[in-house]
Amino acid sequence: MISVDQALHIIGAGVTALGSEKIALEQAHGRVLAQDIIADMDLPPFDRARMDGYALRAEDALIAPVTLQVIGEIAAGAAFDGIIQTGEAIKIFTGAPLPKGANAVQKVEVTASDGALVIIKEPVKPGQFITPRASEIAAGNIVARAGRPIAAAEMAVLASFGYAQVEVFHRPKVAVLSTGSELVAVAEKPAAAQIRNSNSYSLAAYAERAGAAVENLGTVIDTPTATREALLRAFANSDVVITSGGVSMGDYDLVKAALLDIGAEIFFDKVSIRPGKPTVFARRGQTWFFGLPGNPVSTSVTFNVFARTALRRLQGDAEPLLPTVQAELANSINDSSSRRSYLPARLSIQDGRAVVESLKWVGSSDLVAFMNANALIIVREEAHEIAAGSLVDVLLLSAI
Ligand code: AMP
Ligand code: MG
Repeated sequence: MISVDQALHIIGAGVTALGSEKIALEQAHGRVLAQDIIADMDLPPFDRARMDGYALRAEDALIAPVTLQVIGEIAAGAAFDGIIQTGEAIKIFTGAPLPKGANAVQKVEVTASDGALVIIKEPVKPGQFITPRASEIAAGNIVARAGRPIAAAEMAVLASFGYAQVEVFHRPKVAVLSTGSELVAVAEKPAAAQIRNSNSYSLAAYAERAGAAVENLGTVIDTPTATREALLRAFANSDVVITSGGVSMGDYDLVKAALLDIGAEIFFDKVSIRPGKPTVFARRGQTWFFGLPGNPVSTSVTFNVFARTALRRLQGDAEPLLPTVQAELANSINDSSSRRSYLPARLSIQDGRAVVESLKWVGSSDLVAFMNANALIIVREEAHEIAAGSLVDVLLLSAI
């Protein structure tokens, strides 16, 4: 059995980014940059007024009040060809380029004007209310590097520097398959000893959120032939196959045998993690494989710790791991396991501090309790009893 860190190391050593493609900016949100983004111009491209008011020479208004002659106006989108001389001012609006000769703006609130003259009522400092040319970034500089996910703010940056098209990494194609003869479809009423297939839906949702294009292959019964055939179909047209169930030690846990049967190479099949010990990581041809245990909480935890990391790596994400933060433990924890535990938890901000509470759950089947988890408390192998008030490491599953 290997440790969580060893498992992540094996995944990290094997899984590299898929190729890239050029797409329209409109399609880029949520993708990962496969190119560096270069500023094609200075920002701002000119000394820019930050306030509505009057552009002037600060030397004229170091002492106020002072009266200046208004020689014109500049709205955003307009420019002024002349040069401001001593004793002159130009009415200017937020975002407009400062006229030549001016080196400051006084805001309209502390002026009075009849149109021809303006009284500057408060003294002016050189540079006041100006955002200087290239103060945000100068042309030629790298604004964002390959490997950065494209969120809303990145969209604005790409737009500003003219990236109507942008090179991004491919999205991995993921096939999701749930194994288990006890599984019935969502629309069916389970008979005794049956349960509805829920893992396909959580896995598809997690994988989509991780940027993958998901195909849900439904369920397969626990026979060697059915399992082998279903896996072959899953491998046929995907970058990653993710299964749930069938990887424990029981007679009906057939996934590993089927994998070997169809020529897959298994890199690990047991990780010192709780929940989720029988997690399998393998490859067949160019397709990666994660066999996750079937208990819904185990499935969700091992997806987020292991499979998600691979999906982000395939997309070239420079930071493929979910973020970890430290938080104050609200309730004490007693965890006898010698494996590393990931306990379903609720992280919140209380009085400005990050506080985390481990959720009551009755075991790794408890998908209802898990619904309220937005984080996992990481209890390291050697830690067992942790007192309330201690600082603990917390893996963030979603924004809080
Ligand atoms: P397994 O890992 O195949 O031994 O499955 C462990 C348990 O997880 C099973 O007994 C089921 O109760 C549950 N389980 C397996 N697959 C699913 C699924 N797709 N959806 C919901 N629960 C499942
Ligand atoms: Mg099973």
